[in-house]
Amino acid sequence: MATNFEVTTRRVVSTNPATGEVLRELECVADVEVHSAVARARAAQPSWAALGVERRVAILGKFQRLLHQQKGEVATLITREAGKPYVEALLTEVLVVLDATRFLVDNAFGFLREQPVPHGSMAMKTKTGRILREPHGVIAIVSPWNYPLSIPAVDTLAALVTGNAVVLKPSEFTSLVGLKLESMLHEAEVPKDVFRVVVGDGATGAALLASDIDKLVFTGSVTTGKRIAQTAAARLLPVVLELGGKDPMLVLDDADIDVASSAAVWGAFVNAGQACLSVERCYVHQSLYTRFLEACAAKTRQLRVGNGMDPQTDVGPMIHERQLRIVEEQVEEAKARGARVLAGGSRLPELGPQFYAPTVLADVTHGMSIMQVETFGPVLSVAPFTSDEEAIRLANDSDFGLAASVWTRDRKRGEGLARHIAAGTVMVNDTISCFGISEAPHGGLKASGMGRSHGRFGMEEMVRVKYLDSDRLPRMKKLWWYGYSEALTREMEAFVDLQFAQRASERLRAALKSVGMLKRPRL
Ligand code: NAD
Repeated sequence: MATNFEVTTRRVVSTNPATGEVLRELECVADVEVHSAVARARAAQPSWAALGVERRVAILGKFQRLLHQQKGEVATLITREAGKPYVEALLTEVLVVLDATRFLVDNAFGFLREQPVPHGSMAMKTKTGRILREPHGVIAIVSPWNYPLSIPAVDTLAALVTGNAVVLKPSEFTSLVGLKLESMLHEAEVPKDVFRVVVGDGATGAALLASDIDKLVFTGSVTTGKRIAQTAAARLLPVVLELGGKDPMLVLDDADIDVASSAAVWGAFVNAGQACLSVERCYVHQSLYTRFLEACAAKTRQLRVGNGMDPQTDVGPMIHERQLRIVEEQVEEAKARGARVLAGGSRLPELGPQFYAPTVLADVTHGMSIMQVETFGPVLSVAPFTSDEEAIRLANDSDFGLAASVWTRDRKRGEGLARHIAAGTVMVNDTISCFGISEAPHGGLKASGMGRSHGRFGMEEMVRVKYLDSDRLPRMKKLWWYGYSEALTREMEAFVDLQFAQRASERLRAALKSVGMLKRPRL
């Protein structure tokens, strides 16, 4: 009997979250093709590394010019596929990538330059050492939808400039932005096999993780991050995990209410709250609490929600129904447990199925899900505190540790408090903008992940450190080689004293006793 083998192809659908319009349906790249992309990347990587940093920097410069020329087209695509206002697409994606490229172009050469390692030990003075930074080989990047250009592009550019080949799996919700990045890099003359985008879903990401890669840089949820860490551990694959956040904002008793409330509103609602660095918990000193809440509620009510292509829009749609339901459930639970809704608090069906009103919740308590679990939606949850110590305790009592902010008129006080907060980044009198500082490392602790992206620390993730040591006296047998004897034991004791005895006279005596070592016969 003949059997029909049916090959089912998975598909991803790119949709405009503001309108529901299907932008494109794409087939997921088959597992075998993922593996072959990695194999081709591996074959192409040595020539890319051999091209030299100057040439690679020139290619990044060309990419930067292309992105600058096409900024409008790219930002439009981001808004259509991810929903954020066009102005945010320009500011938080295009500008971030242009500036990260500037940083890499300016710093890659110095970063990859061999770094001398002077030796302090007297026993090692005949040697000269250097640190080499070598590419890992093939770096896989798996990225989320919320910053569909800036997250994969910054990691990709750091990997490429340091001599790696890259295979990128963009989010299934923002494949088109991933493909646009691919076409611009190819146009900038990154060879096709050196950078490849594999479109697909979670299973495609899993296939990439299972392939012959040298390192994985993952940005996404804690759940997926943990799954990836388990798989990676089995083969000791190095990973960078940029995961979720529950960032606290601490408004101290001397803060400027007008400034801090504007910051809270922007920090909680930018990208409809779908930012890993967004303000998810706002703690306000009791003395300002009521006035701060009134200011936040008044400003929130003025926000215009709608299609991100409308220049008047402040807040766009959420990415998908699942994310919206998480927000809805958390808000409902908070309300049921006594939180007060000062603005928003429900969907906006008149605008479309994926819009949720920017919401201000007062009197939230620490035990509510909305203060514990990542919300990733347009909700500003505010709770009072009575002392700096209490604020620090509340901020740190979290599974997450991505970033935090402290608001005060006294910078010194803010910086002092920042040192007690367990987070990868703490900003004093600003929030989120650290992501746009190309020199600043980005990454978290606890459930927010491990490793860093951006800046010099981001570049460090893309290289293996090799220590190269060269002996200046190649014809001399080392003093510590075989031919051990009673005499050597005494000379070695003296050699230790020569370096570490407390008194100068002791060290001088030891020097005389140890010289015999130089002449002793060695095997
Ligand atoms: P997600 O974990 O659902 O997906 C992220 C990526 O992983 C997608 O490309 C997805 O296809 C892929 N994936 C899913 N399952 C996989 C598997 N088993 N193996 C390999 N890849 C797999 O996350 P998301 O919903 O796209 O993104 C939102 C999350 O990302 C939020 O938690 C947010 O805080 C986090 N995030 C973190 C940062 C940061 O820098 N720390 C930045 C942006 C977003």
